[in-house]
Amino acid sequence: MSTTALGAEAVRTEVRSWLAEHWDPKRDAREWRGLVVDAGWAYPSWPAGWYGRGLDKDGSAVVAAEFAALQAPFGALDVVPGAGQIELQIGANVLIVHGSDRLKRELLRPILMGDERACLLYSEPGAGSDLASIQTRAERDGDEWVVNGQKVWTTVAQHADFGLLIARTDWDQPKHQGISYFILPMHQPGVEVRPLKQMTGDSQFNEVFLTDARMPVHHVVGDVNDGWRVLRTALGFERLVMGSTGTRSRDERRLPVGGSIDLFELAERVGKVHDPLLRQAMVELFILRTVIGWNARRAAEITRQGGFSPAASLGKLAMSRLLHDSAGVADRLLGMTGTLYGEHVPDAHAANYSLMMAFMNSIGGGSDQIQRNIIAERILGLPKDISTDHDLPFRDVPKAAGVRPLGTPAG
Ligand SMILES: Cc1cc2nc3c(=O)[nH]c(=O)nc-3n(C[C@H](O)[C@H](O)[C@H](O)COP(=O)(O)OP(=O)(O)OC[C@H]3O[C@@H](n4cnc5c(N)ncnc54)[C@H](O)[C@@H]3O)c2cc1C
Repeated sequence: MSTTALGAEAVRTEVRSWLAEHWDPKRDAREWRGLVVDAGWAYPSWPAGWYGRGLDKDGSAVVAAEFAALQAPFGALDVVPGAGQIELQIGANVLIVHGSDRLKRELLRPILMGDERACLLYSEPGAGSDLASIQTRAERDGDEWVVNGQKVWTTVAQHADFGLLIARTDWDQPKHQGISYFILPMHQPGVEVRPLKQMTGDSQFNEVFLTDARMPVHHVVGDVNDGWRVLRTALGFERLVMGSTGTRSRDERRLPVGGSIDLFELAERVGKVHDPLLRQAMVELFILRTVIGWNARRAAEITRQGGFSPAASLGKLAMSRLLHDSAGVADRLLGMTGTLYGEHVPDAHAANYSLMMAFMNSIGGGSDQIQRNIIAERILGLPKDISTDHDLPFRDVPKAAGVRPLGTPAG
């Protein structure tokens, strides 16, 4: 009988007795993480046998609460989409739903232990919103796949051990077919990463050039040419994470902007806590954040079961609004100081940094306009946009010729 079937009280008893036996605040963090992962408490909603316990969301919430009560880390990370590196979480969840047993055996534990870092090799210079237009190709060569092409906007590629890659494997099929989803080892001569400068001054994302990059034949996730289905699961999870980060703040009195500045605290610091218009604006943001949290829980259930939930698009779009509007309210609280940027004005710096980072949420993982299209079609039932290339073999689809890599001079 699964622990779920035993009910929440039985889960509580079991996790409590396990914690009583194993938890010691002085224990080495890495050793503790290994114990939690192997016991299935880190991702209790995952299947028993794959580092989980097959619990439902109520069971996972019980696990999270019991770990939190002792301030023991790494319990029920699945209750908090976005805990840990987002790309790793996406990779782990994609493997759980679509990966072969061999890939799961090789990769899941290192991912859960935080030993690996991942990046998302999806976007290309000619394929962003319309991802099905990718031209990076993967071809079989004996026991390996050989990859050639260019990716762009690849966050943390410079630190990644593996990339979650989409590449074209059959040019004679229509554009959404003939794509496969792979795990590409990043540390090899065929992978060149070039950082790009963002408006924040950081260089978190990159161009990635793939020239005869290689990976073992079993590194395909799901079936060959069925990568679009796998990608939909991955994008669903990404939207879920981007649409729910920060909505589970344990302290209800906090209202963080982009994770770095708390509007309620800022209002107190600048003496505007009694300003009626700003109070109203902050309460509206608080309500929006709360509703986004509820929506995220609904979408999480569907996405975890391998489904594609348009509710994740709703949450991601609402999160964009929350982040942009929160940064706007922070600037109103700061007044003239809000126009400054630099370490000497920490509040203004944090608010303006958050404002610039808000664009990450409204572009990355599918832009706000694309989320609106999904909501229009999948939730409101409006007709799809006209498409002229949907059924053509990809080979015959008109393409941008000779896309110039960013950062290289024209001519
Ligand atoms: C901070 C950041 C991090 C990123 N990280 C990654 C990453 O790690 N890996 C990765 O692969 N990609 C990443 N991306 C890329 C991101 O997914 C793309 O930028 C995004 O999908 C948009 O594609 P594009 O930039 O090519 O714009 P385009 O697709 O060219 O879109 C341009 C504009 O047209 C609009 N538009 C396009 N098509 C439609 C349509 N059908 N209906 C209505 N409007 C439309 C868009 O909304 C947008 O405003 C990241 C982007 C950002 C900003």
